[in-house]
Amino acid sequence: MSVDVSLCYGTGQCAETAPEVFAQDLAGGTVELRTTAPPVELAEDVRHAALFCPSGSIRIIGEEPR
Ligand code: SF4
Repeated sequence: MSVDVSLCYGTGQCAETAPEVFAQDLAGGTVELRTTAPPVELAEDVRHAALFCPSGSIRIIGEEPR
């Protein structure tokens, strides 16, 4: 998976949904990845984070961008 920080609004929804995977940059509030390969047990949370990201910044490899 990957994130496009240039698109990120800094809403923090992803970090609330999957804090093991996403964090927010302390300076600008934009998304930071804690891992690019989250464990399978977090897959559902990551999918929700990608689905509800308002900027479409989160891309799960193997899935079409929205
Ligand atoms: S949910 Fe999307 S827009 Fe909000 S901080 Fe995460 S990546 Fe950025």
